[in-house]
Amino acid sequence: MTFQMLKTEKGKDMLCYDGHIFLKEKENGTKSIWKCNQYYKNKCRGRLHLSKVKILKNTDHNHVPSSSEIQIKKTLNKLKDIASNNSDMSTQSVIGSALNQIPIESSGQLPNINILKRTIQRVHKQKLQLPNDPTDLNFIIPDEMTKIIDENLFLQYDSGINI
Ligand SMILES: [Zn+2]
Repeated sequence: MTFQMLKTEKGKDMLCYDGHIFLKEKENGTKSIWKCNQYYKNKCRGRLHLSKVKILKNTDHNHVPSSSEIQIKKTLNKLKDIASNNSDMSTQSVIGSALNQIPIESSGQLPNINILKRTIQRVHKQKLQLPNDPTDLNFIIPDEMTKIIDENLFLQYDSGINI
């Protein structure tokens, strides 16, 4: 059995162990307690108690392990990694390289393609170099700053730099 540390959508720590996915519940000193991610959905009480180096307690789950769910989460982490390291890559190619190793039986559980695309666009946006704050009226608004997420035009009018 191997541990795998992943990140949730919101960037929180997520731990995969024995086919189950855990979210950090609490941590104090050298001990941390992780609860099953089906805590709310299925009222699963499965918990993993960890010291820094070993499992102290691994209580029972009320459902079977889900390796395909882990596969999906790994794929989404990979997708974000690729997007974040390749700002020039098209959303299509990012999706292509993130999904090329996913087993066919898991691929049906992936989020909708549009959600994947939006995730990539969001990661790419975060990577964009923001310009310095303008110090006078003569500044140029970069093209990518004139649009909102859905790519519709946000800036309605720009008189240019020769007012
Ligand atoms: Zn569980």
